[in-house]
Amino acid sequence: MKLLVTGGAGYVGGVCATVLLERGHEVVILDDLSTGNRDGIPEGATFIEGDVATKIGDVLDSTFDGVLHFAARSLVGESVEKPGEYWQGNVVTSLTLLDAMRSTGVDNLVFSSTAATYGEPEQVPITEDMPTRPTNTYGATKLAIDHAITSYAKAHGLAATSLRYFNVAGAYGSAGENRVVETHLIPLVLQVALGHREDIKVFGDDWPTPDGTCVRDYIHVADLADAHVLALETNSAGVHRILNLGSGEGFSVREVIDVCREVTGHPIPDVIAPRRAGDPAVLVASSSKAIDELGWSPSRTDLRTVVEDAWAFTSNLGDRAHSAPR
Ligand code: UDP
Repeated sequence: MKLLVTGGAGYVGGVCATVLLERGHEVVILDDLSTGNRDGIPEGATFIEGDVATKIGDVLDSTFDGVLHFAARSLVGESVEKPGEYWQGNVVTSLTLLDAMRSTGVDNLVFSSTAATYGEPEQVPITEDMPTRPTNTYGATKLAIDHAITSYAKAHGLAATSLRYFNVAGAYGSAGENRVVETHLIPLVLQVALGHREDIKVFGDDWPTPDGTCVRDYIHVADLADAHVLALETNSAGVHRILNLGSGEGFSVREVIDVCREVTGHPIPDVIAPRRAGDPAVLVASSSKAIDELGWSPSRTDLRTVVEDAWAFTSNLGDRAHSAPR
């Protein structure tokens, strides 16, 4: 298939593009490099620099078989402070993409959605039929796009899947986590092991969880990428599926830091800090629907494998690490 991957210079988009190329697909990446890295673009992909909103009309034509849409703004804190940038950059841009797909007859879509669409869950594991009450603008914009995709599928026959990711981690090929602004737990902990930061702040140890720290569901980025390929291959006209992707097991912040200590051999000092606004205590996915509907079988569900792969990537970055002292 000839596929357009928006945001393919980013972490998840880069890994998915790598896996698509390995499976023999032709990949065109459209990315404005606002948060992505040129380094993360896999060999063999055609790269077009530019943002989706202004470039999609020039890039997308009827020779494409499908689109994987990753390009988005994705910092939760920033989304609350600058909502306009998120409604414009995520929702308006995605509508432009949907209209371009419609006018060119490209009718197969996989969309990068998020667990942030659910907000604070009433119970875990979270299934797709639970209420969607996002607690931040980022989650609200992704939920709005999910709704738009449902309408386009119904009205115009679009074949689509939204994949709601839980905590994506690990690395694959040349792509891993190396953001200019890093907020995620595992890459931050590994930056301590690299000597690029002194300690890791634990955002609260008084949560209603077994060790008092927040529990999350960490999914290996390569397993996540496999689900995208399966979604693309099994999409059907006029149907919009919404599927959670997680490993189904929760680990506390303390457990994650302990695994990072084992893998890196570094003591990784931690400091208890105040709770972070908007953090739910526990987020764990039920991925049963993805497993049933896609025939997905995640094979890297062990947290140690996730951290080992992340560490292999991070420890090889050298001067390319955005966290490196300059
Ligand atoms: N976390 C932390 N210290 C940090 C970064 C994150 O204690 O420096 C915690 C955060 O409160 C959450 C978990 O680690 O409970 C995972 O956070 P992350 O930002 O990686 O992903 P999120 O769950 O927000 O999508």
